[in-house]
This record gives sequence, structure tokens and C-alpha cells, in this order.
Amino acid sequence: MAKSTRLSGHALRSEGKPFSWSSNDQQYVRTNALYGHETGEGYALCSCGEASPWCRSNAERKRWHAIHKRRIQERAASQEEES
Ligand SMILES: [Zn+2]
Repeated sequence: MAKSTRLSGHALRSEGKPFSWSSNDQQYVRTNALYGHETGEGYALCSCGEASPWCRSNAERKRWHAIHKRRIQERAASQEEES
């Protein structure tokens, strides 16, 4: 397992499959459940609760999550330097 791809508390939900916002449920739901597709447009969700901007593909969502994790790691690193 590559260490850089795992960050505790930050897993990409459903491996980057698309979510959309359900105003009825007031939460993100898998677009699969609404439209019957596994890829395509939608939001990425991280297990920490953060959602991506609207993405056009699984690849775009995975890219968002990689950047998201890097940002978390950089923030943690800079906090260590300050203390
Ligand atoms: Zn996260």
C-alpha cells in the first residue's frame, strides 16, 4: 500500500463515483441512485465531509481528492512548524 495515497480520515467516498446534492434529504446522494449511472458528472465526497466542486468525470474527482489530501497534509505540516 502506497503511503501517500492514504490519509487517515480522508477516504474518497465510493472511489470517486459521482454524488449530487439532494435538497429533499439535505445531503449528498450517489447520482447512481437517481440517474442510474456510475460515472459522469457529479460531486466527489471525502469521508471528512468535504465535497468537491462539480466535476465532469471520475478522473476529475480523483484529482480533486488528491489535491484535497495534499492541502490537509500541508496544513498539518505547517502547524507542526508553528508549534
Ligand atoms: Zn477530507
